[in-house]
Amino acid sequence: MYRERLELDGRVAVVTGGSRGIGLACVTALREFGATVVIADLLDDVGRAAAESFDGGVEYVHLDVTDAAGVADVFADVAARHGRLDILVTSAGIANHQPSSEITREAWDAVLAVNATGTFWCAREAARHMTRGASIVAIGSMSGELANAPQRQAAYNASKGAVHLAVKSLAVEYVDAGIRVNAVAPGYIGTDLTKDGVPGEWWDDWIRRTPMQRLGAPEEVASLVAFLASDAASYLTGSIVLADGGYSAW
Ligand code: NDP
Repeated sequence: MYRERLELDGRVAVVTGGSRGIGLACVTALREFGATVVIADLLDDVGRAAAESFDGGVEYVHLDVTDAAGVADVFADVAARHGRLDILVTSAGIANHQPSSEITREAWDAVLAVNATGTFWCAREAARHMTRGASIVAIGSMSGELANAPQRQAAYNASKGAVHLAVKSLAVEYVDAGIRVNAVAPGYIGTDLTKDGVPGEWWDDWIRRTPMQRLGAPEEVASLVAFLASDAASYLTGSIVLADGGYSAW
């Protein structure tokens, strides 16, 4: 009974930002549990190569989550082609490490547009095509719950805080439709996002502050996402589930 409730056979999933990092690990996990998965991402060559690396059951579509009309078209197209849409994972995201005194209006707007507005718009447009039993899982962040002052992340933190409250709001709004909405809030995970343009001493600091004394792996986020997407999580909606190696516990 418990094992069956984790299975995703016959379900159709879309993973935004699914070409790499946490998104790609989510694609792998959902596929392993039986779902047909659509990677929706920005860079066509990277996305196609990611989809082709699977032994079938994974396809790629171009999606810029900041393009509202494009978002609507992608979910309508996936639902029409597959005849259903059961799971959405929103992993598309960008970081910003400028001090608040230096961040430009354009940079602030870009972070909010991808992380907060993009997540909301994808959830809203996906939900139009979902039926009872569907599940939306947003990749939020530990940073949506607490301030990482030394890492100068005001824009990023604000965007993830917005994701978390949008998730709670949508969970309540969609409860009658039978669509569950939850977020996974990762701590520091070893991906391009945490490597690109980040000084090595920040990594040392992150590890020192994490009780488990290491960064997380994308797969450790993806297994939680697959659980939340499945019927095994049937009583979870509006939850923000931390996967942070204990960072926020002290
Ligand atoms: P990566 O940078 O490895 O992957 C992010 C993905 O999002 C890329 O494929 C990127 O595409 C895509 N993307 C960016 N902008 C857009 C857009 N406008 N439309 C569609 N896709 C877009 O990051 P992670 O895997 O680390 O991060 C995934 C999610 O997890 C993000 O939301 C991030 O904020 C969150 N997170 C990450 C943590 C970490 O420590 N790594 C911690 C907490 C949360 P492209 O290849 O074109 O750039």
